[in-house]
Amino acid sequence: MTAPSAQPKTLLCVGECMVEMAPTAGGDFRMGFAGDTYNAAWYARRLMPKDWTVGYVTGVGADAISDRMLATMQEAGIDAGAVRRVPERTVGLYLIQLDKGERSFAYWRGQSAARTLADDPGWLEDVFARAGAIFYSGITLAILPDETRETFLDALEQARARGVVTIFDTNMRARLWPGAEAMCAAIMQGAAKADIVLPSFDEEQDAFGETTQAEVAARYHEAGARLVVVKNGAGEILVSEAGAELFRHTPQPVKSVVDTTAAGDSFDAGFLAAYLQGQALPDAVSRGAELAAQVVQAPGALVEPR
Ligand code: ADP
Repeated sequence: MTAPSAQPKTLLCVGECMVEMAPTAGGDFRMGFAGDTYNAAWYARRLMPKDWTVGYVTGVGADAISDRMLATMQEAGIDAGAVRRVPERTVGLYLIQLDKGERSFAYWRGQSAARTLADDPGWLEDVFARAGAIFYSGITLAILPDETRETFLDALEQARARGVVTIFDTNMRARLWPGAEAMCAAIMQGAAKADIVLPSFDEEQDAFGETTQAEVAARYHEAGARLVVVKNGAGEILVSEAGAELFRHTPQPVKSVVDTTAAGDSFDAGFLAAYLQGQALPDAVSRGAELAAQVVQAPGALVEPR
């Protein structure tokens, strides 16, 4: 099954891009920009042909660091036409700390401008009117206050009703939610608006207690997803359509795993870039897995695709 071709060739990724401070060998920090849906947009832009627009939907401030984030986005070829300027706020930030090779993260994002991305329903509708496909994640849902999460989900539903392909990576981050119950409920609301759900098995096990990838797929089909691709680190990827398992794909073994940051995001982008251009599902899944395998063998979130 291939994606509908009558839709505009525009993939919109929605969520939060943050300032990333990453440690360098000399003990300083290097500044970059990253975030799950942004990483996916960055990869998708590199993989998709020029007749496709890849846009990022978020909020930023009106300050110098927000300008710099936008400039970086545009230099990467990502359309920043759907970025809201919120002068009273600024962008979020995270800092990576290394302790004996173990990475830990500290975040300053509680009041970030991205949290206002669904504050204006009319604006969001106009933005989504340009989309052929919309990609969002569990983090996108987590950063939105309850009321505007509803606005966002409504806008997705309307877009989907017009034939826009909606794609959801469940990306569950417990610390962004008031509790496990609220997280699981919101994830299922998000899934109910998605044509395609791209979960990771370990997170689903932790949150929903399932013991097989097939059970995860069944739950998302039940919620209304047509296609579910259950990632599982180095393990088999399960691909399920309309309630039935289609096939499993085993990622190629990698020589050494250097940094798994953005494994899932790059998989999503590799998969979507192929799938949205009408390639067959097995090819799209292989493309996602190939890219992710390359990404885990190099440091950092954004690795130039081969
Ligand atoms: P997330 O980063 O969202 O937790 P996963 O860990 O499930 O996602 O990984 C996403 C994809 O990245 C996998 O489906 C696989 O294709 C690839 N991947 C991740 N870890 C490895 C690994 N150790 N070896 C090969 N591929 C990997």
